[in-house]
Amino acid sequence: MPATLFDERLAWEHLLKQVSFGPRVPGTEAHRKCAEWLLAELRKTCENVRFQPFEHRWSVDGRTYRMANLLAEQNWKEAKVRVVVLAHWDTRPYADQDPDPANRTKPVLGANDGASGVAVILELARVLQGRLKDVGVLYLLTDGEDLGPDIGEMLLGARHFARNLPSPRPDYGILLDMVGDKDLRIPMERYSFQQAPWLLRELYDLAARAGMGRTFPKELGQWIIDDHVPLNEAGIPTVDLIDFTYQPWHTVRDTPEQCSPASLGKVGRLMELWLLREPAYRPPRNR
Ligand SMILES: [Zn+2]
Repeated sequence: MPATLFDERLAWEHLLKQVSFGPRVPGTEAHRKCAEWLLAELRKTCENVRFQPFEHRWSVDGRTYRMANLLAEQNWKEAKVRVVVLAHWDTRPYADQDPDPANRTKPVLGANDGASGVAVILELARVLQGRLKDVGVLYLLTDGEDLGPDIGEMLLGARHFARNLPSPRPDYGILLDMVGDKDLRIPMERYSFQQAPWLLRELYDLAARAGMGRTFPKELGQWIIDDHVPLNEAGIPTVDLIDFTYQPWHTVRDTPEQCSPASLGKVGRLMELWLLREPAYRPPRNR
């Protein structure tokens, strides 16, 4: 493994901090407080940190909810290659996959489903600060990814972003979702393979060279509709690094006990190596 600065203990603290607010469900105090904290954290390491607010009228109660993506840049304007790195910061209002029916109206804590990807991004922003040369990074923390109940009311922040792209726009994207599972194993997600096979192959080759081939096996996983889908539809090739074989998914057991600092470290180090590699990776023009 080449030398890296990514500190999995610091990433882990970012996971615990998000969980300490409670479930980050739109419309709640925990959601509002977490947004303020994320803004303050990103301002320590990034430029042009801002909210990208939007509203959604929820079919469940007919009320209109205010939500917001968070955007933060490093080396964005100056870069030759621009990468959006994203994760969702909201959590699911209902643990609808819980084996106990009594839990299905409770919110999900989202230690893995939400907090893990954000935790990696916050630490990644610390270690990349001042080190990027040809690459610019846009960190995008999406809201309303997991609102539901159905897919029509999910991916809300990613859809809003895809309709309101920054200028200059990203060349490609990498989504981190459910990357904290203590038994982390991330096969190649199928939409990612369909939309950006060259990007996925390069990423997995790098993982193998860094000795992480078991965590990132070169095999096809499931088709997963996630925040990368709206970006791909908007013409930004985006892959999803996701471990979807997570028993506590959308249950009240999605807690830090199911996750590990080591897993955040693996994903974080891969991202650090990827974004600092030279020459910077450029997507093929005529695909
Ligand atoms: Zn979810």
